[in-house]
Amino acid sequence: MALIVQKFGGTSVGNTDRIKNVARRVARYREQGDQVVVVVSAMSGVTDGLLKLAREITPLPDERETDMLLATGEQQTIALTAIALHSLGLKAVSFTGAQAGIVTDLVHTKARIQNISPAEVHRALDAGNVVIVAGFQGRTPDGQITTLGRGGSDLSAIALAGALKADLCQIYTDVDGVYTADPRIVPTARKLAEISYDEMLEMAGAGSKVMQLRSVEFAKKFNVVFEVRSSLNDNPGTIVKEESTSMESVVVRGVSLDKNQAKITLFGVPDRPGRAARIFRALADASVNVDMIVQNASHAGGSPMTDLSFTVDKPDLLKANQIIAGLKTEVGFREAVATENIGKLSIVGVGMRSHAGVAAKMFDVLAHEDVNIDMISTSEIKVSVVIDLAKGEAATRALHQAFIG
Ligand code: ADP
Ligand code: ASP
Ligand code: MG
Repeated sequence: MALIVQKFGGTSVGNTDRIKNVARRVARYREQGDQVVVVVSAMSGVTDGLLKLAREITPLPDERETDMLLATGEQQTIALTAIALHSLGLKAVSFTGAQAGIVTDLVHTKARIQNISPAEVHRALDAGNVVIVAGFQGRTPDGQITTLGRGGSDLSAIALAGALKADLCQIYTDVDGVYTADPRIVPTARKLAEISYDEMLEMAGAGSKVMQLRSVEFAKKFNVVFEVRSSLNDNPGTIVKEESTSMESVVVRGVSLDKNQAKITLFGVPDRPGRAARIFRALADASVNVDMIVQNASHAGGSPMTDLSFTVDKPDLLKANQIIAGLKTEVGFREAVATENIGKLSIVGVGMRSHAGVAAKMFDVLAHEDVNIDMISTSEIKVSVVIDLAKGEAATRALHQAFIG
């Protein structure tokens, strides 16, 4: 008898037929005698719809109340999934994140899981139930409802698999696994049989939304092996696990395009110690994640000045703009300009550690496509560039063709 955690994303529970389909899959595992914990997302479009309602009232809704609102999406799906299992004659019980013992910090809309007390889940499993847990949500130690950031049901599933010491963790989605690029952008993308945590981390950080970034961080830290596979067929998916030596032979494992970033440039920042610290401290205190940062010092025309550009997640742009506007006098920059028309394009692969010239080849391909590079950042196993959003998809296809075929 195995203990299995199965997560079903928004499309996989997008209507009642899909939910019945999930129930039939779960039933198959139960018939083999396995214990199953099911983690579900809100039905596709529901989280976006709820956010839209709140923003119709005010552009920056209170974050505690946003969590109250968003948590209702997953709560609908757990109950419907339990009802679907009951109708197949299975014992099943649904739990909110709080009821499942998922305890988080206090950062509303982006909370981090602090610990999981799975005693109730174990009790319900031992009583013969399928346990259905609402993804994307938890509670603070004093009982406030929190959410775990967009795509956070992946994290709920992986953290539960870790806490329950599950034998298997399966992430069911609307594609057959992790591909060399988003198959919706690159039709020739190939499904990977396996990928290392580090590569999956970099791809998630680079905008491949197939897995939430934090969920992969968690899996790596606690060594939770998981499989990404389709809820619509029985094809084997992609195993995400620790790196093996054979993985090094591939230079570029995948290409990612992140359309969800925005760029802010501060022109004419006085080039003195402490200015960058002041700016990025204020953003961090408001839980705005900053990704790329580029600074260009210029000594032309008297006192030293610098232009400072950085990227943030698009949904945080409004908040970031407000913070930056509030710092104008104190920091003394001349002007702040924000744009949402950027894409972050990345190539990822552990093989880059042992191969030279990868960045040069990437820049050649982009030059050939007449794509201007706005910002560059690298890690040991990734090269990312910021480019014009309008050219993002064509550039993704060109890089895929050049590096992967
Ligand atoms: P779910 O609702 O199941 O969590 P998501 O929409 O969050 O599903 O993630 C699945 C989507 O991720 C796919 O439909 C696909 O378009 C996109 N995607 C982006 N990059 C990749 C990739 N490298 N491999 C597979 N899918 C990808
Ligand atoms: N429903 C949440 C979202 O849309 C969480 C998830 O789907 O994983 O972001
Ligand atoms: Mg997702």
